[in-house]
Amino acid sequence: MKILVSDAFDPSLPGKLAAFGEVTDDKEQVADADVVLVRSKTKCDRAYIDRAKKLRLIIRGGVGLDNIDVDYARSKGIQVFNTAEASAVAVAELAFALMIAVPARLIDGHVSMIQRQWLKKELKRTELMGKTLGLIGAGNIGTELARRALAFGMRVIAYDPLIRSHELVQLVGLEQVLSQSDYLSLHVPLTDETRGMINRGTLATMKDGAVIINTARGKCVVEADLVEALRSGKLRAYATDVFFSDPPDPACPLHDAPNVVMTPHIGASSTENLLRIGDVVIHILEDFVSHTA
Ligand code: NAD
Repeated sequence: MKILVSDAFDPSLPGKLAAFGEVTDDKEQVADADVVLVRSKTKCDRAYIDRAKKLRLIIRGGVGLDNIDVDYARSKGIQVFNTAEASAVAVAELAFALMIAVPARLIDGHVSMIQRQWLKKELKRTELMGKTLGLIGAGNIGTELARRALAFGMRVIAYDPLIRSHELVQLVGLEQVLSQSDYLSLHVPLTDETRGMINRGTLATMKDGAVIINTARGKCVVEADLVEALRSGKLRAYATDVFFSDPPDPACPLHDAPNVVMTPHIGASSTENLLRIGDVVIHILEDFVSHTA
């Protein structure tokens, strides 16, 4: 069996994979690969799948499957798996860091200090305690973020029409989550329903001075509408790990907008998470081998 490791995983993974067959990171060998391991970079579209004549299994180390044409792969008899739960803590910790960076004035404080300024009087902080965090999507990552926010004394509500109850948070409608949240954090997959769901219309129904945190997908928001809301002061800040394209186009309007905090899509990239993802990949392969032997 030939395993193509097409994207970056924990460096220990290829050694562990050797027990299953030949391992390569040479993308040119896709035509001979039985198994392909991808994260976000490799796009397994129709053309890619057509080139991979021997492919039987695609494993995505991560949550969404939006870089894989799953229906087409399955129509060719290729199994597709992801490592759905492994990344929840890693992404929730980054979402929390992005959220607290805004009221703690972390970025303004740091940037002013390296510019040799002492803005002790100017940099007024606010606290998370007592504020409302609204989640859009209360699955694995949303739930881990809720746990952390509750520990900080926040009230947490969530809009998630696909679940009936939640162990930690009150489920509300979309209108309520938009109008009641001081902090709104996105944790939905990219679908026809969630594409562009934060736009001029939904932004208008939000609390004045709210903060949006996005560790879901850049295409869930309309970036130009967000920038407009930031410039008018309707939004206090937009803290994001994800962009319309990865990396963002140099013309992306977020680069020049006020009160934006950005990280380069590193939500899942903790050392611990890459090890967890590797463990799940090995389990999926063990299962695959035992069912195809
Ligand atoms: P999950 O499947 O556990 O949870 C997603 C939740 O969204 C589910 O509960 C689902 O019912 C809900 N949902 C679906 N459609 C909805 C809609 N229209 N409105 C409201 N809720 C809806 O997934 P997760 O592990 O929590 O991950 C969430 C998303 O985070 C992923 O789909 C991915 O896009 C993103 N993600 C980003 C990074 C990163 O590096 N920044 C890493 C992992 C995942």
